Amino acid sequence: MAEHTAYLSLGSNMGDREDNLRKAIELLSGNENITVSKCANIYETEPVGYDDQPYFLNTCLEVKTTLDPYSLLKVCQKIENDLHRVRIIRNGPRTIDLDILLYDDMISDDPILTLPHPRMFERAFVLCPLKDITEYTGTIPEDKSVRPVDKPYI
Ligand code: AMP
Repeated sequence: MAEHTAYLSLGSNMGDREDNLRKAIELLSGNENITVSKCANIYETEPVGYDDQPYFLNTCLEVKTTLDPYSLLKVCQKIENDLHRVRIIRNGPRTIDLDILLYDDMISDDPILTLPHPRMFERAFVLCPLKDITEYTGTIPEDKSVRPVDKPYI
């Protein structure tokens, strides 16, 4: 089966944020159709959109997968559910948020799965870690709150 390359964004600002990121990475690695091939540094970032909430830890992963993009999205959503993501407020606190940024060079405007991720180029908390693991040379919006706090978990 053909192998695809995808980039994922991970964020957590509830509970043990480090542990949530680690568990999400473990669950992805534990899927027989997914290999986590690269992990970016871990960044602490100020919440965007809804301010009155704790700072996030964010990172990005490169994964190799035989899953089609919708199946990969399902795996990500199951991990969000398994880690008890709570979504009371839009853009509000979350145990874990897992987004697909890129899947090969696929372009899609399907609201269920938009690729590249529609807001990724506005978000320093996505682009800073993504730059760690790709050749990304585009501009990154200024956001002084985004600072590396830890080495990659794998
Ligand atoms: P959010 O709460 O920001 O994580 O958004 C989740 C919703 O966005 C779900 O209904 C997904 O189907 C949809 N979605 C659209 N494009 C993507 C993407 N590239 N990665 C993850 N979720 C996406």
